[in-house]
Amino acid sequence: MASIYIHIPFCKKKCHYCNFFSTVSQKERPELINSIVDEISLRHDYLDSNIIDSIYFGGGTPSLLTEIELSSIFSKINEHFILSSDCEITLEANPDDISIDKLKLLKDQGVNRLSIGIQSFDDGLLEKLNRIHNSKDAIKSVELSKKYGFDNLSIDLIFGIPGLNNELWKKEIDIFLNMDIPHLSSYFLTVEPNTALHHLIKKNKYPNVDEKLGIDHFKILMDKISDRKYDHYEISNYALDGMISKHNSNYWKSKSYLGIGPSSHSYNLVSRQWNASSIKKYIESIKNGNMFFDFEELSLEDRYNEFVMLGLRTSWGINISEVEKRFGSYISNYFKARINITRFKENTIITDNCIKLTRNGKILADGLSAELFIT
Ligand code: SF4
Repeated sequence: MASIYIHIPFCKKKCHYCNFFSTVSQKERPELINSIVDEISLRHDYLDSNIIDSIYFGGGTPSLLTEIELSSIFSKINEHFILSSDCEITLEANPDDISIDKLKLLKDQGVNRLSIGIQSFDDGLLEKLNRIHNSKDAIKSVELSKKYGFDNLSIDLIFGIPGLNNELWKKEIDIFLNMDIPHLSSYFLTVEPNTALHHLIKKNKYPNVDEKLGIDHFKILMDKISDRKYDHYEISNYALDGMISKHNSNYWKSKSYLGIGPSSHSYNLVSRQWNASSIKKYIESIKNGNMFFDFEELSLEDRYNEFVMLGLRTSWGINISEVEKRFGSYISNYFKARINITRFKENTIITDNCIKLTRNGKILADGLSAELFIT
């Protein structure tokens, strides 16, 4: 079984911190949707299985898609692939797009999971991030989604935002907990190069993000959420029992996926490829049948590095025997030696032959996985 990711690169407004490939111009949208549909046909044999157990519409803002656009994409997928009976179909939505009509449309098209980009419940912070919605939209979008049968629901919240103090962050988490939402993705605000946020900080028009504040927020979140039966199943993801995101779990378990649309990545266990991050280039190449992606053959060491980096971020951890099975005894011996160093031993535990991060290890996750890499 495999996954499909579809990138819809259109937004109504550009958020200050955003470095996803997206544009506010809708000029090329009809042509781009046609190209996406064509790419599904062109690459239908990329995966070694045509049985799909998760589809994810990311962006950009996929909740901008109309009925005609969505149904043209779905009918091409159904022409080439078989969707498993419990196929998870997620669509990222912005709160201001969620209406009764939109929810009906999404349901009719087969979407069964929504990931709502709320980011904050505070109007001042939303404005600072240049989000298009306000806190009222955010709350209404969750209530409406639940009312119209989207029980499989996730929201995003950002922490470490300048101006978000510990008390306000606790309030944000309480709003989430009181809304009975089964899944949360929560990230530290990172300042990416070439974003408006980066530019504003450089010009002293916006305070820089404070890593210590981000760590405090992460600790507060871990503590508050663990009291309420959420499984912290990946560094940035929390779910109630049975509500883990199948699509993201497939990434973290190093399963194959096909990425459709500009800037999307694909992986088929031996190589990785990524489509052009340019709408114009992407449309033209698909039309002319040219190569529209870059390609990288992965060495055994590359695949090992990725396997340990992703595995260590999860609550199921890295299965020690699996390392030998996948990468052979030479790499496995290296791995066993690395997990024996003091810093690793202090921040991990081994249960059922799997190495997992402790609470403190989660704070140090990036540095710890780098200790395992073969460079
Ligand atoms: S809505 Fe999402 S993709 Fe669009 S600009 Fe904001 S963060 Fe970026």
